[in-house]
Amino acid sequence: MALDELHCTSSGTVISGRGATHFPCPSCGQATIGRCARCRDQSVPYRCPNCGFLGP
Ligand SMILES: [Zn+2]
Ligand SMILES: [Zn+2]
Repeated sequence: MALDELHCTSSGTVISGRGATHFPCPSCGQATIGRCARCRDQSVPYRCPNCGFLGP
């Protein structure tokens, strides 16, 4: 999986890098959570695709 092809976990937007972030799931650490700038700004919740962890 290419790191530059990450998608926002909440909105599905391709993460371009500007204002966006990605990090391992804080619960299971197995899945990578992606967050685009807009979802960060609006504090849109995300759900881990691996363990179902729901978080801001
Ligand atoms: Zn998003
Ligand atoms: Zn998880």
